[in-house]
Amino acid sequence: MSVQFYDAHNHLQDDRFGDQSRLVEVAAREGVARMVVNGACEEDWPLVRESARRFPQVLASFGYHPWYLHERTPDWQLVLIEFLKSVPSAVGEIGLDRWKNDLPYEGQEEAFIWQLRLAAERELPVSIHCLQAWGRLHELLRENPRPACGFLLHSYGGPREMVAPLAALGAYFSFPGYFMHARKVRQREAFAAVPMDRLLVETDAPDQLLPEEANRFPLRDASGRSINHPANLAAVYAFMAKEHAIPLPEFANRIGENFQRLFGRQS
Ligand SMILES: [Zn+2]
Repeated sequence: MSVQFYDAHNHLQDDRFGDQSRLVEVAAREGVARMVVNGACEEDWPLVRESARRFPQVLASFGYHPWYLHERTPDWQLVLIEFLKSVPSAVGEIGLDRWKNDLPYEGQEEAFIWQLRLAAERELPVSIHCLQAWGRLHELLRENPRPACGFLLHSYGGPREMVAPLAALGAYFSFPGYFMHARKVRQREAFAAVPMDRLLVETDAPDQLLPEEANRFPLRDASGRSINHPANLAAVYAFMAKEHAIPLPEFANRIGENFQRLFGRQS
């Protein structure tokens, strides 16, 4: 059987993409068996649900990302609960961000904790974005209920020393194609510390473009800017298999098992 790939994190609903069916078709042809499609705000959630209903490869995930919290309506929590009930789904993308310019930090922790608790109560896997708030994230994860199945730190860019304490709390870590760039040495060193049974792979498409020489599916948005194709997942797997000195089919099997352990009950 051909090798199967699991995309732990992307944004298929992003309006920078054109026709989704073509993207999914190409990705499926390249061996992408499943992808977690993350909604980041209320506007996204119906689009994500629609994708999940259209494509068997798509696992829906609904959450409020810190970048869009200012858009939230007074009813956002009720709306989120309704979406989670409506299709098999995960929670995310949620998170903490102290990196983005002009983004207020105030309110982020409250929204994060509420969504984390919701995931824990419902035993749903949760996908977490974190930039420059690793210490605080660790504290909040330690102090609050967490989903028994675990949680995903997508595009983990935190310190290498924090991998073990976060893994002890139930973390999985997904590696994006963007970290294949030669300059991303620190991030690759952190990933070298991730236990093999906690490792996942992602595209974060349409973001986090991989190096040009590895990009077999060049794609541009309407304004002409390069964006990442979900079918690039295979190249990220190949890179990581090589880093681990494991043959690609065996590496892919192990990542597939990790994916099923974290996300497999939502199908
Ligand atoms: Zn994302």
